[in-house]
Amino acid sequence: MISKKHITDRFVSYVTIDTESDPKSETTPSTAKQWDLANALVEELKSIGLEDVSIDENAYIMATLPANINEDVPTIGFISHFDTSPDFTGANVKPQIIEEYDGKDILLNEKESIILSPDDFQDLRQYKGQTLITTDGTTLLGADDKAGITEIVTAMEYLVQHPEIKHGKIRVGFTPDEEIGRGAHKFDVSKFGADWAYTMDGSQIGELEYENFNAAGANVVIKGKIVHPGYAKGKLVNSMYIAQDFINSLPRMETPEHTSDREGFFHLHNMNGDVEKTELQYIIRDHDREHFEARKEVMIKLANDINSQYGKEVITIDIKDQYYNMREKIEPVMHIVDIAEEAMKSLDIKPLIKPIRGGTDGSQLSFMGLPSPNIFAGGHNFHGRYEYVPVESMIKAVEVIVKIAELTTKYKA
Ligand SMILES: [Zn+2]
Repeated sequence: MISKKHITDRFVSYVTIDTESDPKSETTPSTAKQWDLANALVEELKSIGLEDVSIDENAYIMATLPANINEDVPTIGFISHFDTSPDFTGANVKPQIIEEYDGKDILLNEKESIILSPDDFQDLRQYKGQTLITTDGTTLLGADDKAGITEIVTAMEYLVQHPEIKHGKIRVGFTPDEEIGRGAHKFDVSKFGADWAYTMDGSQIGELEYENFNAAGANVVIKGKIVHPGYAKGKLVNSMYIAQDFINSLPRMETPEHTSDREGFFHLHNMNGDVEKTELQYIIRDHDREHFEARKEVMIKLANDINSQYGKEVITIDIKDQYYNMREKIEPVMHIVDIAEEAMKSLDIKPLIKPIRGGTDGSQLSFMGLPSPNIFAGGHNFHGRYEYVPVESMIKAVEVIVKIAELTTKYKA
């Protein structure tokens, strides 16, 4: 239904525009160059025939595909982000197109002998015979999330050209700065006006996600007392030893390197200390809200215990929640996941439903009143030189969008 060349050309036209975001910047978008692609997208959305195409002062883009039926059905949205990760350079992306991939090593860069190998990345094997788009080994590709943008634009264009496919009102949303955690921050949910949405920002074909971590950060400050070490008996208090007690009292196996699936953890990601003062920075993660709250309690209780041991406040702990599991917002409207699952099955795509061990823009949007599960965009090895996307997966994602639009007409607004 969609030609490989058409979708490839569109994807290449996006990834060759540098849109790297910058966590140190305080503006929105965080980098001025994101406007280059944003402005081009606005023109393209108009040219394919969408209505109410708008871009605000922060470069958030919205557009409408009007309903082509009279029944009152839900308004749905499709969302992706046009920035790329600051983890690896996104300047001068030179996409390589590998047709009929033979399942062997791919030489990304002869000069620097950079190889994309199925020995390192087993997922490659499932794409034997397909068309892959890779980097030239010196940049990231930007399939995260320009594959998502490509798929949404192509699906909307297809629906405009095929009025025999019946659908309700569809809203399109493209955001800056997702990679620095701010994609949802200035998203105007009421202006978007959809009953629910899908972020097209997952990885391999079939992915469907509606669960993510509950997340908090904890800053632990331990105060000691410095005295000349030769005359310190009974006086010196070494904050680093207290820190060591604190660290060792938390369960050693409940850390990122010992957990998977739905297991939560405490993660000590930074420590800094001398005799007088030691600071520990933790992140706390758990899919289960009660377990998440319990983990925070464990840390507070441990600090209190140590304080009472010393008879004064040697430890202070400051815990801040960061984001929550969108599952609690999705479960009451579970049909929105069912529709996506049914769409995939009807297209012979095996749905891969698994909890995200992180956060997504969709989780923030869900708590802002727009329930937003995440669907595959097709790419692999995000944020680095080995990133690639099979063109066939992008075409399947377009078909999923079109099918979701059709299936939604079975529901009442
Ligand atoms: Zn992304």
